[in-house]
Amino acid sequence: MKGVVNIILYFIVILIVTLLLSCTTKIKLAYKYFLTPCPCDVPEIQSDFPQHFLRVNLNDYLSQLNSYKNFRIDTLQTIIYAGTEFPITRILFKGSEAKLRLLIFAGVHGNESGGVLSIPILMDSISTNPTRYMNWEVQVITPINPVGLQFMSRYNENGCDLNRKIKKSNQPGILLQKEVIREFKPDFLITLHESPSRGYFIFPGVHVQKDLIQRILEHLEKNGIELATVDYFGRKLKPPGISNTNKGYLNILKNIIRLQPLADYTDENKIPSLTPESGWQSEDLKQRVNSHVFLINAVIDNFGNRN
Ligand SMILES: [Zn+2]
Repeated sequence: MKGVVNIILYFIVILIVTLLLSCTTKIKLAYKYFLTPCPCDVPEIQSDFPQHFLRVNLNDYLSQLNSYKNFRIDTLQTIIYAGTEFPITRILFKGSEAKLRLLIFAGVHGNESGGVLSIPILMDSISTNPTRYMNWEVQVITPINPVGLQFMSRYNENGCDLNRKIKKSNQPGILLQKEVIREFKPDFLITLHESPSRGYFIFPGVHVQKDLIQRILEHLEKNGIELATVDYFGRKLKPPGISNTNKGYLNILKNIIRLQPLADYTDENKIPSLTPESGWQSEDLKQRVNSHVFLINAVIDNFGNRN
């Protein structure tokens, strides 16, 4: 009898230790991703979640961007890190009857290169069908975090997350995002991201109209993009493809910990914004890269139609 009790006690102890360890791991991850804007000193490589890395050679990427002739392309800022220059590129396109301004940020998180790689596909789309974009002036900043992109790190040259504490941070990549917004005064902003979730989903800003979101989801589905049914908080998405952190306990939590992603800043400044996330575990470029262009084009086709 004593032997049986000991075995049961042994398993209970193992269970408690496992639970404590898993809680500690979750607390550590929550601290790293949500509570501290600068979890490291250098652009550390992401190893917390399984990811299929899409590596980008920055020089080849810049040459590719500069090969497009019908855009105004310049270097907005250069980051110096470890004696090397890392340029941030600005791309401008102005439609023949431009009255709306769309601002696109790519590569805020360096390891989320799907957004960065979608930009040449967008430029192809604009080049082949400029009429579609004639009502728009489009400005793209890519990559916002060139050092992170080179090192496949979420963080910038100082180990900081460029989508946290947006209002208070002095990180160059954060000041740059706010400066571009102030100067360009976008009617709509899209910041391209990737996540560990399976499938594609969007964090819509509070000023994005519901029928626009509906049209975007329809356009993504029509083009064969798999919409996520669960986000990386483990919450079921209703409808699939939309995560709303502006509702419920997550909103309360977000305000308590003062997360301040870019979307909070655009909400406060009454700019409709979308933060789309493609799934970084996928090896399928259509799901990860082209998906962002489908989303941008759905905004191009539908925003302002009912305003
Ligand atoms: Zn991201």
